[in-house]
Amino acid sequence: MWARCIVVLCLWLPCAVAPAFADGYYDLAPQRIAPDTYVFLGALEAFDFDNHGAVANSGFIVTEQGVVVIDTGPSRLYGEAMRAAIARVTERPVVRVYITHAHADHFLGNNAFAGVPIAALPATAQTIRSAGEAMARHLYDRVGAAMRGTSVVVPDEIIDRRADPLVDYGDHRLELIATAGHSPADLMILDRRTGVLFAGDVVFHDRAPATPHGDFAGWQRALTTAADSGFRIVVPGHGPVAENDTPLEQTGAYLRWLAERLRAGAARGDSAAELMFEPLPPRWAALAVQPAEYRRSVTYLYPALEGATLK
Ligand SMILES: [Zn+2]
Repeated sequence: MWARCIVVLCLWLPCAVAPAFADGYYDLAPQRIAPDTYVFLGALEAFDFDNHGAVANSGFIVTEQGVVVIDTGPSRLYGEAMRAAIARVTERPVVRVYITHAHADHFLGNNAFAGVPIAALPATAQTIRSAGEAMARHLYDRVGAAMRGTSVVVPDEIIDRRADPLVDYGDHRLELIATAGHSPADLMILDRRTGVLFAGDVVFHDRAPATPHGDFAGWQRALTTAADSGFRIVVPGHGPVAENDTPLEQTGAYLRWLAERLRAGAARGDSAAELMFEPLPPRWAALAVQPAEYRRSVTYLYPALEGATLK
């Protein structure tokens, strides 16, 4: 009798609960963009209850040595959906995860990758350790139940900026490019074999750049580094993949325009509210998540600039 109950339970639980649970939130279809190279494109939106926080791009490279994952998305369930989608492409195990930077939409899927080394730049690991819980709570407020079971997993492998930036996975030679500017540490990964550059949030495409932790000068330097890397295909952190440097130029031009608008506003003595509701030029109004992202930029960046100008 008991034996039969246990058998019935075992038959029921996995199919009745687990797959439907994960699949209900994230329907991840990998897009092949180059040999062995796939991306999951995020929604060109801010976090909300419908997109479940899946607004950033993530990806993976299938090599003879196993699968290399770049960014893990906003939640445990997203990470699990990634793993299921990867398993439909290859039987090879995931052997390493790289986290491009410490923003919630890029690393909160880490706890779906137990047992896999998770590598990041030092400041990325440090920020996740100190602020990860607060970021997870914030995202839970914005997207709700899709976050269930998510816990913060700090990267356990620190990328030494002085070490050789080239790492071989089979015949895929990856170049780890350490920059900063979108955030205090922004990792880009160039696959020298395919020419694919996973640029993280150094590059946005047709979506307004998110700037709360931005440093304009550093960010422009990072864009120059990306442009000089010799890439053939660029995977932005947000927005469509491109085979040219249009997304880099777009991101750079937007940041120059934004910096100048904030500077001019401060020079005129505009209040943050005045500046926030000033209309956007058509080119920048046409980007996704506008004018919300522009207003967020004013909220985060203007007070310091205003203060410095008043002094
Ligand atoms: Zn992002």
